[in-house]
Amino acid sequence: MTRQWEIPPTAGLPLRWRDLFGFSADLADSLARQFSIPRPALPCSGTAALIIALRTLQQRMPGRTRLIVPAYTCPLVALAAHYCPPLRVVPCDLQPNSIDLDERQLAQLCDDSTLAVVVTHLAGRVADVDTAKRIAGTVGAAVIEDAAQAMGALDDGHSVGLKGDVGFFSLALGKGLTTAEGGVLFSRDPVLHQALHRQCQQDLPLSLRWELQRSAELWGYALAYQPRGLYYVYGKGLRAALAQGDEVAAVGDDFSVSDIPLHRLGGYRQQVGAAALARLPDYLQQGRTRALRRAARLNALPGVSVIMDRPGQQGTWPFLMVVMPSAHARDAAMAPLWTSGLGVTRLFIHTLPGYRNVIPLLQPGGDITQAQEFATRTLSISNSHWLTDERFEQVLAQLKVIVANPD
Ligand SMILES: *Cc1c(COP(=O)(O)O)cnc(C)c1O
Repeated sequence: MTRQWEIPPTAGLPLRWRDLFGFSADLADSLARQFSIPRPALPCSGTAALIIALRTLQQRMPGRTRLIVPAYTCPLVALAAHYCPPLRVVPCDLQPNSIDLDERQLAQLCDDSTLAVVVTHLAGRVADVDTAKRIAGTVGAAVIEDAAQAMGALDDGHSVGLKGDVGFFSLALGKGLTTAEGGVLFSRDPVLHQALHRQCQQDLPLSLRWELQRSAELWGYALAYQPRGLYYVYGKGLRAALAQGDEVAAVGDDFSVSDIPLHRLGGYRQQVGAAALARLPDYLQQGRTRALRRAARLNALPGVSVIMDRPGQQGTWPFLMVVMPSAHARDAAMAPLWTSGLGVTRLFIHTLPGYRNVIPLLQPGGDITQAQEFATRTLSISNSHWLTDERFEQVLAQLKVIVANPD
């Protein structure tokens, strides 16, 4: 297909021109009100939020050198450890066909040198924090909720990020609300929350250079974030990378430690974010309705399952995370779909040990077979409103053909 458009891989909230010129409410106050969280600190990215959280915890628990994270997650999470020496990252396996940590392995990996366990609300789903809390609690380790992909998700009626000791959201491009990079950091514990704020004040300067660059990127987003524009700024690069067989470059997860600046989210972008935030609840609700309808269609295909929420949980739906019957079926589906412009892609290509730049920070844990299965059998279908019902049916029809012809 040679259509000159590209549906974005996630349901990012489009900006309006008046967001860029608005002089609206304070972003931290608006986020606190919107999600019923303590008034958050606003570092320059989700990764910077994690680094601040880790440094704060290191001061409270000196001598603890291990950070346990899901073996299948954003490589930036592991790279954060580079800025918190001597911290090492221990990958933990997942439960079969799930984003939740393997309980048995987590219990084996946790010891009195464990600083924290990261629970990741991947794909907007609400992960199991209670089990991690129980296990981490036995060794005095903290639980950090990585809600980078899940701002707006509710766990038992409360925002994700409030059950664990620390929570953070990401305001990067494509993660729902965006300030072209930004992080939202908070803790339900008032003392720890104040400590996070102080650590931000101390470690994160305001950078005029970064502020100008990111503001330009935010303007670029306002201009280009529609299927025609995305063909040029995203689709062409994707196709070029795939033509060279470089899947990591295709999804843009070839990060290194030099991709992690440390500064504060500046005032102008906070204003833009606060203006757009007013539209987010409706946007998330429409996305939820659309995603649940489509998940039901996908779940009806033999051997296909969409990662869903448990009762009492209400996640967000940036995209649908689809588990295919086999790695072969996943690859067969991606062959026509990845370059179709229909918003079908893969999340992270590898588990953590598959990234060259992450390896020096890793400490071997247990076997991570299920996380590897997850990496080889999943694909993502955008939940962008630009993927109309008609276009979704095209994706569904492709998948139907694949699962009907296993070989
Ligand atoms: C994007 C992401 C991060 C990092 O957030 P940035 O704002 O891009 O630094 C962390 N964890 C997960 C699961 C992510 O998807």
